[in-house]
Parts: sequence; C-alpha cells; structure tokens
Amino acid sequence: MAARSRPVSVVTGGAGFLGSHLVDRLLAEGHRVIAIDNLITGTTGNIGHLAGEENFRFIKHNVSNFIFLPKEKLDYVFHFASPASPIDYLELPIPTLKVGALGTHNTLGLAKDKEASFILASTSEVYGDPLEHPQKEDYWGNVNPIGPRGVYDEAKRFAEAITMAYHRYHRLDTKIVRIFNTYGPRMRLRDGRVVPAFIGQALSGEPLTVFGDGSQTRSFCYVSDLIDGIFKLAMSSFHEPVNLGNPREMTIKQFAEEIIRITGTKSTIEYKPLPVDDPKVRQPDISRAKEVLGWEPRVGFEKGIKATIDYFRDSLKS
Ligand code: UDP
Repeated sequence: MAARSRPVSVVTGGAGFLGSHLVDRLLAEGHRVIAIDNLITGTTGNIGHLAGEENFRFIKHNVSNFIFLPKEKLDYVFHFASPASPIDYLELPIPTLKVGALGTHNTLGLAKDKEASFILASTSEVYGDPLEHPQKEDYWGNVNPIGPRGVYDEAKRFAEAITMAYHRYHRLDTKIVRIFNTYGPRMRLRDGRVVPAFIGQALSGEPLTVFGDGSQTRSFCYVSDLIDGIFKLAMSSFHEPVNLGNPREMTIKQFAEEIIRITGTKSTIEYKPLPVDDPKVRQPDISRAKEVLGWEPRVGFEKGIKATIDYFRDSLKS
C-alpha cells in the first residue's frame, strides 16, 4: 500500500495486553501505527516483535499529559491506556483516575484536532455489581463511587460521558466499546487477574486461590475475538456503546476446576476472602454487537485457554 493511502492510527496503551494485539491487527490491515504508552503496566516485550517494522512507531509518554504530534495526519485514535486489573488500580488509584479522565480528554482533543475517529476502550465495570443479568448496553449500572474499584469504574464512566459530549457537541466520530473479561497471550503473569493467577498457580503446582466461595461468575472472551470486534466497531458508524465479550458464563470455582483439568496439575483449591465490591455476576448481552457489527466470538474456551497456558508455560521457562 502506498504510504499516503495508509490510514494512520494512534493506540494509547499500545504496549499493553489489548493495545499490543490491536496494534498487530491494525498493521495487518495496512495501517501505519503509533503506539503511545508510559509502560506503568505495559511492557516493550509486547511490541518487541515489531522492532524494525517501518509502519510502526513507539512513543513513551503518559497520555494524562498533553499529547504533541504536530506533523502527523491521523485517521483513528484508539484510547486503550489504563491500568486494568483490580490489583493494578488498587496500587495505582490516581494514575487510573487520571488516564480515564485527563487521558481521555487529551486523546479526544487529539482526535478533534486531527479530525480523526476516536475509539474508547470502556469496560463492563461501568455496570458495577450489576442488578440486571446479563448486562445490556441500556443498563445504567450499580457502582460504588467511593469503593476501591470506584477509581476505575468512575473514570471509565466519566470517559464515556466526555466521549459522548465530544460526539454531540463537537460532532466527533466516536465509538465506545465496553470490554468484558478477556484473556490470552501477553497478559502479565502477576497482574492479579484470575486467568493468569490460576494458570500461573497451576503450572507451578501451587494452590489456586479462589476468592470468596467461588460462586461469583465471569464470562471469558479470547483476545483475537475481542480485537476482531473492536476493529469492526472502529470501521462502523455506530456511536452508542457496544458490549464485546463472550457470553459463556461460569463460576470462578468452575473456572478453577477447568484450569486444574486442562493443565493436569496436582494443585488444589484454596479459599481466600472476597475483595470489596467484587461483582457477583457478569455476562455480556451481545445482541447489539451481533446486529450492528455482525460479530460474535468464535474461539471456544478450551482452545483459547490452551493457547494461553502454552504462552504462560513458555514465559515461565524464560
Ligand atoms: N479471583 C479469584 N482468585 C484470584 C484472582 C481473582 O478468585 O486469584 C476472582 C475475583 O475475585 C473475581 C474474578 O476472579 O471474582 C475475576 O477477577 P479478575 O481480577 O480477573 O477481574 P474482574 O472480573 O473482577 O475485574
């Protein structure tokens, strides 16, 4: 593709788990990509394979501060920067609030200045500990603003509000994806989320730490499915929020048992206290994504989990 006709995309959080997979997809689609990341939870290891790629550029920068790209013509700004695991945002409450609020304002300003489309990575956390199940996009949520998760939930709710304001007031072309639990290669082994935690514990023969009685539910989506939905949404002209996730729901106890079965580990289950405000249920209603984007997940649980286990097995060796 000629340099001029290549769309140009900025991905904030481009060295993170989802951001780096999105960068790969955009490059494969013929985009030129600028990844911006301050590396507080991301790592250059996630983009190391792109060294020498002429259509890729990495900028180490905290997008909660002003973003300066004077010479660039941009077509898409994907705002994916944020600590995203409960442990990360407990340790980094203020950076989490800032990147969801100031970072979203800065990236919206960048998109407006460049007349680019803007895609916000929002989250199922906007539904909080949901009183409706499964969650549809028109559910307003049940969030504790002052609890430990509030720093993430409220930052993302603010991010959605300011995104819609830029859409309505400045006529910016904006999209909002509400991302449900997603897993796959490039998650950090010790990010505290249940998928790397259980797989890491199973592979090293330690007990799997189930929080509470394990009856809380989650629905896990494989990363390639999620990225496919995000790309389709970015190319669409749909401005309301869209849930993306896999509706296959299971309890955390069942999930632990599946990891024990699939890895063949001798690990047992150990019960630990449930974190404050831990949502009791979570399952996306994906009717809107099906209807608007013609999207639904394709990768089955067993296949996705095996690929993820292989990734963690390799990273434990090195
Ligand atoms: N969880 C668990 N053991 C762990 C880590 C997490 O039982 O070692 C539980 C956690 O309490 C929650 C679910 O697994 O109910 C998913 O947690 P995660 O941190 O992956 O993300 P969340 O969906 O809560 O944002």
